[in-house]
Amino acid sequence: MSTLRFKALELAQSRTQVTVTPPSTKVSDYFNANVFNDIAMKSFLSKEAYQAVSNAISNGTKIDRVMADQIASGMKNWAMTKGVSHYTHWFQPLTGATAEKHDAFFEPTEDGRSIEKFAGSALVQQEPDASSFPNGGLRNTFEARGYTAWDPSSPAFIMEGSNGNTLCIPTIFVAYTGEALDYKAPLLKALHAVEKSVVDICAAYFDKNVTKANASLGIEQEYFLIDAALHNVRPDLMLTGRTLLGLAPEKGQQLEDHYFGSIPPRVQTFMVDFETECYKLGIPLKTRHNEVAPSQYECAPNFEEVNLAIDHNQLLMDVMEKVAQRHGFKVLLHEKPFAGVNGSGKHNNWSLITNTGINLLSPGKTPQTNLQFLTFFVNTIKAVYDNADLLRASIASAANDHRLGANEAPPAIMSVFIGSMLTQVLEDLVSTKTKSAVSSKSATSIDVKKIPEILLDNTDRNRTSPFAFTGNKFEFRAVGSSANSANAMIVLNAIMADQLNKFKTEVDAQIKKGKKKEEAILDILKGYYKSSKAILFEGNGYGDAWVKEAAKRGLSNIKTTPEALNAYISTSAKKLFEKNDIFNARELEARYEIMQESYVKKIDIEAKVLAQLAISHVIPSALTYQQKLSENVAALKSIGINKAGYEAQFKFIEEISKYVKHIRESVEKMIAEGDKAHHIENTHKRALAFCHKVKPLFDEIRKSSDALEFIIEDDLWKLPKYRELLFVK
Ligand code: ADP
Ligand code: MG
Repeated sequence: MSTLRFKALELAQSRTQVTVTPPSTKVSDYFNANVFNDIAMKSFLSKEAYQAVSNAISNGTKIDRVMADQIASGMKNWAMTKGVSHYTHWFQPLTGATAEKHDAFFEPTEDGRSIEKFAGSALVQQEPDASSFPNGGLRNTFEARGYTAWDPSSPAFIMEGSNGNTLCIPTIFVAYTGEALDYKAPLLKALHAVEKSVVDICAAYFDKNVTKANASLGIEQEYFLIDAALHNVRPDLMLTGRTLLGLAPEKGQQLEDHYFGSIPPRVQTFMVDFETECYKLGIPLKTRHNEVAPSQYECAPNFEEVNLAIDHNQLLMDVMEKVAQRHGFKVLLHEKPFAGVNGSGKHNNWSLITNTGINLLSPGKTPQTNLQFLTFFVNTIKAVYDNADLLRASIASAANDHRLGANEAPPAIMSVFIGSMLTQVLEDLVSTKTKSAVSSKSATSIDVKKIPEILLDNTDRNRTSPFAFTGNKFEFRAVGSSANSANAMIVLNAIMADQLNKFKTEVDAQIKKGKKKEEAILDILKGYYKSSKAILFEGNGYGDAWVKEAAKRGLSNIKTTPEALNAYISTSAKKLFEKNDIFNARELEARYEIMQESYVKKIDIEAKVLAQLAISHVIPSALTYQQKLSENVAALKSIGINKAGYEAQFKFIEEISKYVKHIRESVEKMIAEGDKAHHIENTHKRALAFCHKVKPLFDEIRKSSDALEFIIEDDLWKLPKYRELLFVK
């Protein structure tokens, strides 16, 4: 009997609930307790130091050495009141995970004693050993050094640990030459670009008081929670984050009884614990609920400025994993941990908000604000239409490939849902003449002053759209659950900035020719709507009909990561990113290389794990059972039973041989294809080989393995089954 699986099951079923006591029943009592926020800064910094940080945050002004020393010292004093002994620069290298390297405040002095010290230089800049992070060749040609630099716009925070607390300072991570090696540096640039273009347009056409603007982001995070003991005896989950084998359970999500259902007590306790930790870190978690699949859940914070929202999401994923350990759970952030069961995403809710408090994607009450709304709304549609391939590339990963186009998540085809009401508004807009509309009082034309008050129907939702307008924001729903949202947000804000700049140039040209401002704006928006209408889709994005329709409309349907990534290095992408000062061509090439390489590594690891599982877990179980059957047949024969009496057993024996043979052959083929692929010099071609030659064999192996799981005596099966992973709570 395979003991590991049953031991794990016993452990999972005998768990007792951990008690969790939040610091107070009122979240407001401890929200932000571990964040060096405005309040903490005011009480621990001198007036000048506080002013210096404030200016850096709001205007991006530089902080000089003297001030940096003062700020660091204040930060240290604050941290030490919270039991902090170490500090670290906290950054987001292209591994996808966050990185930290801890240093102690403690410093020996000449007289043999020691002090607690945190110098401004250590706050502002550090040099981690950069050679062990992905760089796509960026550092090879120059010096191998990289450095992290403080991002004052995201506040420092304290990570609590069982052996002391650490002060974490959010930083960017760049090569010695200044080229980005992380997600945050280009993100800040993209956000700067979009802010500038938004302010330019608002100030010129709508409201002179607009001097600042923020892109805002609310990230809904989906995840699975399964028992840690069961997880730990599934090598595939341990090493790849997903099950490479496994028969779908008899009961899955077909009863639709999990979504918004009552949360199991052990899970609820985990959530309370996890939320408490998040609140201390200033992560404004707002909602929690069950998701569609069994053991799948979702949480969502209030939206924040994009850079902060992304830091918080990265932190949240980290905290989630740590807290889960205390409860005997394992969090699965993978996009598709279980075949045949819904995968997980990370919906990115995005909008643009001005310093005057206006959400530019929120339909207004007056004609003037609606013209402003339509400006940003239509420009978003145009930006997505013109750059659909780039947006597709921004969400590409080996794991997300399982979701996109699997008829359960938004398809790999980029489209925009806007709802029937707004479709009507746009249709009305183009069916009337702007000139008369603006100047005459004719009732049939759209008078700018008479753009109707746009009342949205909140129930008009489409959950199959990858990019949906949801009342006052766009929801980019195709982002993968384990991804750093920065990739998607860099692209979205970059294409928006670029589009808005083009728009401004065109409108200004028309105004210069003597057109009225409103007339010029409407004219151009009409043209945009007409030319990018093909991206709008209100129907079922999961259906086959859409695939055909999209092809007719000329929309791309790029199914795999190695192919999708090509958009990053297209001539137009290079131009767009360079023009808006976000990436130079070399940075794009490097990133492209890293992402192709990462794809190769992921598939290669999966292939190796799958081969191991098939050979050392599945086949031995199959042979043991076959042996048992053969003994049974021999015994029956020996007491004189004729063939009809053991025909069923005989069939099983034959079937097992057939499946074992198929697995064995497929594994050999997979290994051979992997070896061949490894020898391909060009990274993109290598990734293509892993995608189209190696990966398809996963399905072959799985088919036979799952067939064996169906017929083999349950006791002999070594790996926890889907029903155990998904239903033991
Ligand atoms: P649903 O599941 O219906 O999509 P949720 O309430 O779960 O909605 O999530 C909505 C997310 O969108 C939340 O994170 C919320 O803070 C965020 N959000 C709401 N308004 C905006 C906005 N103007 N800009 C960005 N995000 C927003
Ligand atoms: Mg949503």
